[in-house]
Amino acid sequence: MTTNLESPIAYLKGVGPKRAELLKVELGIDTFFDLIQHLPFRYEDRSVFHKISDIKADSTSLQLRGKIIKKELVGGKRASRLVAVFQDGEGELELVWFKGAKWIINQLPINVEVVVFGRPTKFGRKWNIAHPEVEKVDSFEKRRGGGFHPVYSSTEKLTTRGLNSAGLARLIRVAWENIKSEVGETLPDNLLSELKLPSRKDAFEMVHAPRTPVEADRALRRLRFEELLYLQLVLIQHKRTVTVDLPGAIFWKVGEKFHEFYSKYLQFELTNAQKRVLKEIRADLNTGRHMNRLLQGDVGSGKTIVALMSALLAIDNGYQACIMAPTEILAFQHAEGISDLLKEMDIRVEVITGSTKKSARKPILEGLANGSVDILIGTHSLIEPTVVFKNLGFAVIDEQHKFGVAQRSKLWAKSKIPPHVLVMTATPIPRTLAMTAYGDLDVSILDELPPGRKEIVTAHRTDAKRLEVMSFVEKQIALGRQVYMVYPLIEESATMDYKDLMDGYESVSRRFPLPKYKTGIVHGRMKPADKDMEMKRFVSGQSQILVATTVIEVGVNVSNATLMIIESAERFGLSQMHQLRGRVGRGGDQSYCILMTKDEFSNEARRRLETMCRTTDGFEIAEVDMEIRGPGDMLGTQQSGVPDLKMADLLRDRNLMTTARYIAQRIIDKDPQLDLPVHKTLKINLEIILKDRPNWSRIS
Ligand code: ADP
Ligand code: MG
Repeated sequence: MTTNLESPIAYLKGVGPKRAELLKVELGIDTFFDLIQHLPFRYEDRSVFHKISDIKADSTSLQLRGKIIKKELVGGKRASRLVAVFQDGEGELELVWFKGAKWIINQLPINVEVVVFGRPTKFGRKWNIAHPEVEKVDSFEKRRGGGFHPVYSSTEKLTTRGLNSAGLARLIRVAWENIKSEVGETLPDNLLSELKLPSRKDAFEMVHAPRTPVEADRALRRLRFEELLYLQLVLIQHKRTVTVDLPGAIFWKVGEKFHEFYSKYLQFELTNAQKRVLKEIRADLNTGRHMNRLLQGDVGSGKTIVALMSALLAIDNGYQACIMAPTEILAFQHAEGISDLLKEMDIRVEVITGSTKKSARKPILEGLANGSVDILIGTHSLIEPTVVFKNLGFAVIDEQHKFGVAQRSKLWAKSKIPPHVLVMTATPIPRTLAMTAYGDLDVSILDELPPGRKEIVTAHRTDAKRLEVMSFVEKQIALGRQVYMVYPLIEESATMDYKDLMDGYESVSRRFPLPKYKTGIVHGRMKPADKDMEMKRFVSGQSQILVATTVIEVGVNVSNATLMIIESAERFGLSQMHQLRGRVGRGGDQSYCILMTKDEFSNEARRRLETMCRTTDGFEIAEVDMEIRGPGDMLGTQQSGVPDLKMADLLRDRNLMTTARYIAQRIIDKDPQLDLPVHKTLKINLEIILKDRPNWSRIS
């Protein structure tokens, strides 16, 4: 039977229906071409053979050459173990399989020269190798390049059916022979020569059987780049359809209100980063296209002013603006802050949240409908259908990570022409991730803090130092400052966590007793009204210590709080700790963050703690966090804007992604619909890919 790229993998010699099913379930491999795209994750130098007699006590994996002279299933009726005796002329050892024994025994050739690869361990006085790779010498030598071998990721189930790395390698070789004549080029010639990339066919050939490490690298680079380029083409084209093709209100005036605020009421000089971002936003608002922009900036970088001044641009052009915050407290804080900044100006600011009474809501809704309300601030109650604007031109979404994509698009529906959208987040996302997960957004970055901020001093202490830490708390309070003490709250162990929290609260209250000290507590099981009251007591300075779970994570601003203690810090994620730490250091006083842990914790936790102590740069922290957790976890499942990639990897291929983004943008700028003859291949393949990977077009 003739096969092609899309032939089901079951047609491949040596596969059959059972293994085909397993390949599909375990590795997502359906077709011949899927198999070819299963790239090696590393290469092994297999040019050297060892002798059994040379094996040292602490050998790593090594390669032997000899014969299996005997094989048997042991372990009584259940025959759970396969033991084979292997000799290389100078010695003897045992090869052992605990899994898949019954299947593997039939595959082991007796008295034929084989290559064995694995890690010897000593069992009694004899060496043995558990789960080695075994391959006939003639097949081993047929592989091109001899000594330099690809290693493929496999799974336990596949391994027990003989599809470990070597087994996959064999299948891939056969499949490749079947389909290689059909593998065509997918990148334009000029791009291949510009980036010095090998052809697609050569790349697949080399990637599975490189002669040298350099060949392997070139091949990998070519294939990963191709995948990333197509991903970026999808994203950038999509972005064009939601921006270029969607009309946006044109704010051509930089008018009266903006200037009035800038010259009279802005109390400080904008940072250069703020000026740059305002320019970027203004440029967007002038084009007649819909703006969809992500503003990333660490806590305290001054995002609010940028949002407010952009809102003033909208008002100057006859539009209304709204700001949506993730919690009620934050909505009120924004409302208070913004009303205060604008108090001398003729601008009407209102706030609506879930607890706004009907009677209070009515005049606001009327004002929105007749245009007399200029800025509406609120929680997600802003997107309820009863909230109707006369002319919404600009919407700000603060702390994006709490909002889903669906909510964003509901905002669009609030106006005939969709309002320009500015999404603000204090959880920096590594740039390459932002490029994909938020592929339809332009990204602005506030990478500069206003002057005069003191770096937060961060230290790690174990429980042994608790007494000293408590005296430090006492000193801070004596200076008139306030203190956060944060406890972990992780769902699965919630009951234990609540107990820890309450125990902590009690011992703090004993150490800092009434009436001299007041300690508050907030956590998710409290009634919202009680929680609010405790928060307000802390915000107004009535309580000095706030014991809390991560409910205080987002955006609350108490500039007098200078010390944060994070309990059981080994259990917190890196970005989460960074967010928490942002609650202090908001005033002019030196602030501190102390990470308390037990004496022992994992290496990964150590890396998080060290990173926290080393830097306060949110972007640097985000990079490390992505390395630790991987891109998927970083965004959370709710948002899950991570595309399925077969050959490239968002983390490993960060630099390549930047190149792909740049090239894709250049191509689309020049030829939006890919109609030029040089782009014909791109156009055809893009259509195929979009059918193949629906999740790419749903990302944003
Ligand atoms: P975030 O980015 O965390 O939302 P905010 O917008 O709340 O930060 O700003 C934090 C504080 O810094 C506010 O009190 C704000 O008034 C102040 N601020 C913002 N920009 C500047 C600036 N350029 N110079 C001095 N202070 C600034
Ligand atoms: Mg903020």
